[in-house]
Amino acid sequence: MKQTLFIQFYGQTGSGWFDLCNGFSDTWDLCAGKGDFLWIPLELNPDRWYDETAYQPLPLPIEKGTIYVSASYVNHLYQAYLWALTYPELQVIVGGPVASERHTGKPGWQSVHFKVENPLPKNLILTGQSVERFFGVPEFSGQWRLELPPQIPDEGRIYYSYTLENQCYWKKCPFCSIAQHSADHFRKRTNPDLAFTGLDYHGHKIVRLNTGSMTPEHIRKLLPMLPVTSDMEYRFFMRAAAAETRAMKEAVATMGDNLPDCTLGFGIEFPSDRMWQYLNKGTRMTDVLKTLEFCTETGFKVNANVILGWNNLTEQDIRDLEGFMQRLSGKTVTTLQLRWLFAHPYTLIYDTYDGVENSIRLGPFNCGFHVTVPPDQMELNLAAAQVIKEQCRKKEIQLQGYKNLNKGQPG
Ligand code: SF4
Repeated sequence: MKQTLFIQFYGQTGSGWFDLCNGFSDTWDLCAGKGDFLWIPLELNPDRWYDETAYQPLPLPIEKGTIYVSASYVNHLYQAYLWALTYPELQVIVGGPVASERHTGKPGWQSVHFKVENPLPKNLILTGQSVERFFGVPEFSGQWRLELPPQIPDEGRIYYSYTLENQCYWKKCPFCSIAQHSADHFRKRTNPDLAFTGLDYHGHKIVRLNTGSMTPEHIRKLLPMLPVTSDMEYRFFMRAAAAETRAMKEAVATMGDNLPDCTLGFGIEFPSDRMWQYLNKGTRMTDVLKTLEFCTETGFKVNANVILGWNNLTEQDIRDLEGFMQRLSGKTVTTLQLRWLFAHPYTLIYDTYDGVENSIRLGPFNCGFHVTVPPDQMELNLAAAQVIKEQCRKKEIQLQGYKNLNKGQPG
């Protein structure tokens, strides 16, 4: 075993598929020349991410030297912190989506997904940049030679990412940490080569096309290129807005019946024109409905993300929500994912909402908080939850996350 290790976490989700959390996918080849890879299984249930008792300083095969840790989720970062404490002679260098993205402000830069509240161990380094930049080579210049953990069964299902860019072109939503990514570290794949298709795995593959939100350019260029095979499906986020719908219609028109199996995630947030304006979503009810309906006609599945926990709802918003849900035809939305508003550090919501006293911490890392809202607003939010629950039942939309709504409530 070399004295340099590249550590990549993975885990099996509640749905049975394996999330490869593969921060090293593009750079596996680059790193393989510098050390050994080690896959480590770690808790994937987000309900346990913030529970410090769920973690131990898992034993490592080396005690001196350097480990590079790819942190896709904040619990990966916490695991790296525990290793730095346990192995003081080991240099622990953390990159990956959680530690590589910067928020720039005063003083200097911070990692965008958390605040560091206490001094870190001296042997723990957060890169604040991509692996390529860290090693001084051009972005996306490596071969895609990801090797899978041997524990994954041949006939299983895996989920992995193919990064298009590390930001969101829209960048305007006040609750979103992706909107805070520093432009200094913009990383964009200018020539998508579909390298993910070369993965040596015969089971089912779920490929996440990774960007904050697909641009109309991505949609026109990439959608017709996606290989259509029975063992491959795609997931990506897109704005439900007029420009994206136009681009999708143009792309689909060139594809005939050769359509890939796609699930599109939409940040619906709260379906009322007034709320979309407040949230800078740049869309409106008619355009959102057109986007979702076109997905249904095409055969794409829709995952609608709705947020509750707003402190400014009106009775009219609830009526608009009800109207939106009623106008959805039975099959327009496959899954509706409900969550309580989370205040990510550095966002406007973090600076302006109540709840900071309930901050969620993992060791020295402050990860943000679930907002709290005054009683009259709580009533409106819960009324909205009831409308959603009832309409999902009527339209046979799979509702997820309903039980998590109590996270923002006092007590
Ligand atoms: S469109 Fe999505 S990814 Fe982009 S800023 Fe808004 S919430 Fe964030």
